[in-house]
Amino acid sequence: MAEMIPGKMRALVLPAPGRYEIQEVPVPRPEAGEVLCKVRGVAICGSDPEILRGALAGRWPPAYPFIPGHEWSGQVVAVGPGVVNLKVGDAVAGQAHKGCGYCRNCLSGRYTICEHYGRPETGQRHYGFITQGAYAQYIAISVKSVNLMPKTMTFREGALVDTAGVVLHGLELCGVTPGGTVAVIGPGPIGLITMRLARAMGAARIIAVGRGARLQASRMAGADVQVNFEQSDPVKAVREATEGLGVDEAIECSGAAGTFRQAVEMVRKGGRVSLIGVPTDQVVEPLPFKYIVHNEIAIFGARANPNVSRKVISLIAAGQLPVADLVTHTFPLEQFSTALDVFVNRREGVIKVVVEPNGIS
Ligand SMILES: [Zn+2]
Ligand SMILES: [Zn+2]
Repeated sequence: MAEMIPGKMRALVLPAPGRYEIQEVPVPRPEAGEVLCKVRGVAICGSDPEILRGALAGRWPPAYPFIPGHEWSGQVVAVGPGVVNLKVGDAVAGQAHKGCGYCRNCLSGRYTICEHYGRPETGQRHYGFITQGAYAQYIAISVKSVNLMPKTMTFREGALVDTAGVVLHGLELCGVTPGGTVAVIGPGPIGLITMRLARAMGAARIIAVGRGARLQASRMAGADVQVNFEQSDPVKAVREATEGLGVDEAIECSGAAGTFRQAVEMVRKGGRVSLIGVPTDQVVEPLPFKYIVHNEIAIFGARANPNVSRKVISLIAAGQLPVADLVTHTFPLEQFSTALDVFVNRREGVIKVVVEPNGIS
């Protein structure tokens, strides 16, 4: 039976750059091609603190007031006109991007690099970045940006579908060599999921490059070798661990300065590099131009998660990609400040923090 939808909801609202507060705001209505969802879990993304700080004001978000949040799961509570694939009560996992649907990239399925990005009049959306997001009790969202979850999956797992999709897209771009070796730079949430997914896709050996507690965590994500970049040169260490040959694929998950070059120098001749971690605008990397040419190193930039959410949901539901243990902390929306502090300051061995705007799920 359909439940009553209230007129107002609690949401995390940014009234101006650098400020946030919990406010009562109207519950949005689903327009044609949209569903209204009750948000059950929202994972804090590495990009959220930047948006909250106002570091990207004018771009992310383009205007205030604004509700951020894009890594979420929930239940459909109402469907707009023209929606035939979802019904009230369905559990869904969200994703941030929706393309215009008619530019060259959208038509070829590459809607995260829509040529009409930032032009909502074309139908393009980027929930939680330029379009109102999910740190709220409800979100109205295009059916193109939600995917059905099986009943066996929890909402906490569902909140990790967006993140895991970013990883799957990055790995699909470069490919994973069955029986090969993959190096993963940056064992944060994205890096840890990369290790598990690379294994699920056939990698025989995983080398994690990082430091501290997160490098320790790479053991539970299945890394066979740990390279602490504070104690040894990561390129040298990776080469030593591969009889001097280098790895088949290197996946950059940190966005830190210097790691792009390291990734290039870690792969074998004919190896592939995928760049998943997002650097700041200031990071400009000097690269070994001739080395890349002479060794046919292939480099892929990976943006977000086009056409991978369904696959990710199937992998999680089948137990091939465990993510439940990566949700180390959960908080109600009212404790958002604490949730953010735990995530940003990496307290208590945190990996992923999930905020639950409608109570514990
Ligand atoms: Zn994210
Ligand atoms: Zn487009």
